[in-house]
Amino acid sequence: MASAKTGELMSASTIVQSTDSKAGQDLGALLFYSEFDDPVEWARVLKAELPSLDFRIYPDVGNPDEIRTVLAWQPFPGFFEPFNNLSLVINLGAGIDSLAERSDLPDVPISRLSDSGMMALMRSYVLFSVIRYARDFHEFETAKRLGEWRYIHPRALHRIKVGVLGLGHLGAAVASALADAGFDVRGWDQAEKQISGVTCYSGAEMASFLAEVEILVNMLPLTGSTRHLIGKAVFDALPRGAKFINASRGLVVDEPALVAALQSGQIGGATLDVFWTEPLPKHHPFWAMENVLVTPHLASITVPEAAARDVAESIRRVAAGSKPLHLTKPARGY
Ligand code: NDP
Repeated sequence: MASAKTGELMSASTIVQSTDSKAGQDLGALLFYSEFDDPVEWARVLKAELPSLDFRIYPDVGNPDEIRTVLAWQPFPGFFEPFNNLSLVINLGAGIDSLAERSDLPDVPISRLSDSGMMALMRSYVLFSVIRYARDFHEFETAKRLGEWRYIHPRALHRIKVGVLGLGHLGAAVASALADAGFDVRGWDQAEKQISGVTCYSGAEMASFLAEVEILVNMLPLTGSTRHLIGKAVFDALPRGAKFINASRGLVVDEPALVAALQSGQIGGATLDVFWTEPLPKHHPFWAMENVLVTPHLASITVPEAAARDVAESIRRVAAGSKPLHLTKPARGY
């Protein structure tokens, strides 16, 4: 997510007040809330798609009864209370775990974003992380620090087995990209999936899936049933020294179990973008571990110019009485 430019909030709210109405639909007002995303950029890209939309930026709400759509990332508890005429909430990202867990969620369709920009960034994060291990760059980083010329004979990519846990919008895109890059890719999900070039496992086949995986990528959403799902049993089922990449949510992983697996060598290295507590606390053991790469929750972000078309389409659809794009089911958690 791009950083918020708080100083520009008021000016942005006046940008999108056009009277143009291509579709002739009454779209009502949209309220934008995010501490991470740039409201000025969102106002610009949505104005291009929906000139008649009344775009408001929190806290410049105006009459709350006029707010029909909320476009928000992690709104604070009680955020939705003033709005009696909401018809759509659009989560300004992929994971809806922060919405699904709350008790004040309005009874309207909740949609998420799933745009090409977000996909491209997630593909690049996971591809880089996998290739860094597959091509032994993590070893060369250490060797360089020690001033050593350390030759490691490269392995053919098709011999390297990469596993992806969770084959949803982003998970499937990541698995396909790894297969296209030449890896031997396996995927696991709760239900059967078919992805070209990827051997797919489901449900109770978890152990067979894990048995040969050398680099495991977590792309599962955080829900009641995935919380701490990746723990000792999963790490023990992998070949000794396997690498682990977490690009979805920290709480899907049992962190103390991961620390123990890294200390014992059962897990040979980890690339972690997400954690139980963010920012990662100063004295967390991950900081001192040579074989752990920490990134600050940015594997992917929402790219406004890529996502605006979907947001506009969802608003149009709901105004016309249809379902929005990328509808989620908060009761199941994603
Ligand atoms: P989706 O919601 O599209 O897909 C979730 C997948 O997980 C579906 O295939 C679903 O199965 C499956 N699933 C759900 N529950 C379980 C379970 N208990 N056991 C096994 N499989 C399960 O998510 P995305 O692929 O788009 O994104 C995954 C996550 O990535 C997001 O939820 C978000 O938390 C995270 N993310 C992280 C970012 C970062 O910067 N680090 C950026 C963007 C997203 P089914 O098809 O049957 O429903």
